[in-house]
Amino acid sequence: MTALAHPRVLIPESKIRQRILELANEISYDYRGKEITAICVLKGSYIFFADLIRGLARPLNCEFMGVSSYGTKTVSSGEVKITLDMTEPANGKHIIIVEDIVDTGLTMQYLLNHLKARKPASIKVCTLLLKPESMKCDVQLDYVGFRIANEFVVGYGLDYAGSYRQIPYIGVLDNET
Ligand code: 5GP
Repeated sequence: MTALAHPRVLIPESKIRQRILELANEISYDYRGKEITAICVLKGSYIFFADLIRGLARPLNCEFMGVSSYGTKTVSSGEVKITLDMTEPANGKHIIIVEDIVDTGLTMQYLLNHLKARKPASIKVCTLLLKPESMKCDVQLDYVGFRIANEFVVGYGLDYAGSYRQIPYIGVLDNET
């Protein structure tokens, strides 16, 4: 077994924790009087999702969706496939899509269009990370944790070829990309 290389720290744990509290407070305020259906987009967003929902002071339902757009490559294929769907109907629900990172925006655009067709009462997007320079489409992003440069990041749920998800900070693999 080989040891994992240590990615360069881009966003430390403490900053992530603080920003998630702010996002959770903002979302809780915006959804006063409403029940939230939060969709965790697997796999990358599960750690962010777990931390975010624990800060939401509103009635909450959790759903999980699988979307595949990346293999082991570090560039967007633009190809999106739903590999796991919600278990309850989206119709009439106040949905928040919780995503780890928006890069080209193609995955989110696809997911939004797909879910809007199911007639939710409302639909918003919360992404931990955004790479503004990589965006290839005009996609609605309601809550953004951090805007980052166009470099490949890992950790805090994000992987490179299946590894690095357990690293507690957001880091950059300088030699791999
Ligand atoms: P998009 O469709 O916006 O180009 O890509 C969205 C998906 O690509 C994300 O959900 C994530 O799985 C993957 N992705 C994009 N940039 C990165 C990155 O820097 N690191 C990792 N680990 N995944 C990324």
